[in-house]
Amino acid sequence: MGAKLPIATLALALLAFFLSQGLSGSAREKNLMSEENKQVAGDQPPTYSASQYSLTPLAPERLSELAKGLSPDERHILLEEGTERAFTGALVENKKDGIYTCRLCGLPLYDSGAKFESGSGWPSFFKPFDPGHVREVRDTTLGMVRVEVECTRCQSHLGHVFDDGPQPTGLRYCMNSASMKFHEAGADLPPESQPTEQATAYFAGGCFWGIEDRFQQVPGVVNAVSGYQGGHLPNPGYKRVCGGDTGHAETVRVTFDPKQVSYRQLLERFFTFHDPTQKDRQGPDVGTQYRSAIFAANDAQLVEAKAFLEEQQASASFATRKVATTVQPAAPFFEAEEYHQDYHAKHGGSCSISSGE
Ligand SMILES: [Zn+2]
Repeated sequence: MGAKLPIATLALALLAFFLSQGLSGSAREKNLMSEENKQVAGDQPPTYSASQYSLTPLAPERLSELAKGLSPDERHILLEEGTERAFTGALVENKKDGIYTCRLCGLPLYDSGAKFESGSGWPSFFKPFDPGHVREVRDTTLGMVRVEVECTRCQSHLGHVFDDGPQPTGLRYCMNSASMKFHEAGADLPPESQPTEQATAYFAGGCFWGIEDRFQQVPGVVNAVSGYQGGHLPNPGYKRVCGGDTGHAETVRVTFDPKQVSYRQLLERFFTFHDPTQKDRQGPDVGTQYRSAIFAANDAQLVEAKAFLEEQQASASFATRKVATTVQPAAPFFEAEEYHQDYHAKHGGSCSISSGE
């Protein structure tokens, strides 16, 4: 940062002066409860960050309720893109270990490990807690081109990001203290600042590209990963599995939020994603690695999956056809090679499996 810092500091001091004179950056004043936001919130399927926090936009009613807890200053900064005066924020000098969360919705924004002394008068960080937790928006207010930083989940204004920060990123996330809450390491975090509850399930139903792609699109599924399971060789690799003698099935590991989607619902979707009556094949893909199988991650799943298969076999849908799906306790799961992951999302197309419609 060296020589750039004094100029940046001067610019920021001028900015602080203008803002303190009442020339707030309200040209793009936002109303979190606007009609536009009503459309993005509400019934949207849940989305998750890489660190497994829910990024689903909050419903307007919830935002409205949270906003009631803000002081007038906080409200001005978070909802009207205001900026606090330099060196006045409570977190500028904070050197404690912990995490900084969004003042409005509680999403973790920065870790104390990325905080540095910029001399600007605002809490500064060289990287966010998770790149998916902050959103950068071009801001042309005050006759300058700057990049505004807002919370991905609630769209509150947090501050700006500049390219004069220290290594390894060279970035300086210049935040308002009032936009954040600090939680010291070891303290209990409120539910809104914790990652989503996670559960795991495993399904094999032919080519894993297609099964992975379908599960990835199910609301409440955090992640779906292609791999191999149920064989007798550690880290078998695609070539060996396709040889058909390792005993593995092409399997998808589904990580899901049980509050959003139940295991039962995943079982039901699994049956729409493939033809469970085909034994050791799925369409043109023939071999035991394409068998239909459920690997239960725990005893409860084992009981539920067995009951589900019996129920399906007894139903009218399978009156004349035998369900070939097997169920067994989960065995070690080996992630497939990187080029198999997100195959359809990267390359388009689809396998010869049911569309799930
Ligand atoms: Zn937020």
